[in-house]
Amino acid sequence: MRFSKVGWIKIRYHRPLPEHTTTKEATFKKERTGEWYVTFSLETDDTDLPEKPALESLDTSNSVGIDLGIQNYIHTSDGKTVDWLDLDDEYERLRREQRKLSRKEHGSQNYKKQRRTVAKAKRKIRRTVLDYQHKLTTWLAKEYDAIFVEDLNVAGMLQDDRNARNKQDAAWRQFITLLEYKGNLYGTHVVQVEPEGTTKECAKCGGETLKRIWMREHSCPACGFETDRDANAAMNVLQRGFFELGQGWPESTPVETVTATDTAQFESMSASHVIETGTPNP
Ligand SMILES: [Zn+2]
Repeated sequence: MRFSKVGWIKIRYHRPLPEHTTTKEATFKKERTGEWYVTFSLETDDTDLPEKPALESLDTSNSVGIDLGIQNYIHTSDGKTVDWLDLDDEYERLRREQRKLSRKEHGSQNYKKQRRTVAKAKRKIRRTVLDYQHKLTTWLAKEYDAIFVEDLNVAGMLQDDRNARNKQDAAWRQFITLLEYKGNLYGTHVVQVEPEGTTKECAKCGGETLKRIWMREHSCPACGFETDRDANAAMNVLQRGFFELGQGWPESTPVETVTATDTAQFESMSASHVIETGTPNP
């Protein structure tokens, strides 16, 4: 690239620039790792994006509700759990490097060098998460015509018993942002729904059940419906998604059909499965 006042500079692309885009801006930045980056701001033409499926064509076979887990996974209304990444080793390494840094003399050459090592360990984690979220959202957008997730911006959920996952909200927000982007890219509806009470509400009868954070099962005293806690929440998200789109619950598919996938039949998918079946980032 040629920059005025700087001249020609060799750059290495992390991935090719997408087609049908116009470069609006390029920014130089020196990271804490000591490396230089060029970031491009691109503009796309919306008319090139695929059309999203007609709302009338949506049903429980091509749409999915997603429960963002308290622990590190997502749960889908059609019976899939996808593990989040196991980053224990990476976090352990980061802690080790941070301990080393605390033993260096502040301001010394060794200190500066170690500080770059810490920055690299942090960057590794950030990149691994982002890469995984790219693959997961691409897989979801290609797999379904409509994806429903909880709206994390609703303040009400802070009072909910799901408080434990607030820490994870930043990661989920990034996930939803990517999901919306992929939805536009692949022609998939992505809709955020009211999150209040998705855990307590019974997906079959709509009654409220008291549920503490450690209770992993949904067992409805009113209608007797029993399933996994997160499966019930994902089904509620699915139902709310249809209502949000003004479609109502598809009459051809009674709740029982969806809820037929009970806990025992839930198909667990590892992170590597998504990575293997997912295609490279656009
Ligand atoms: Zn019920």
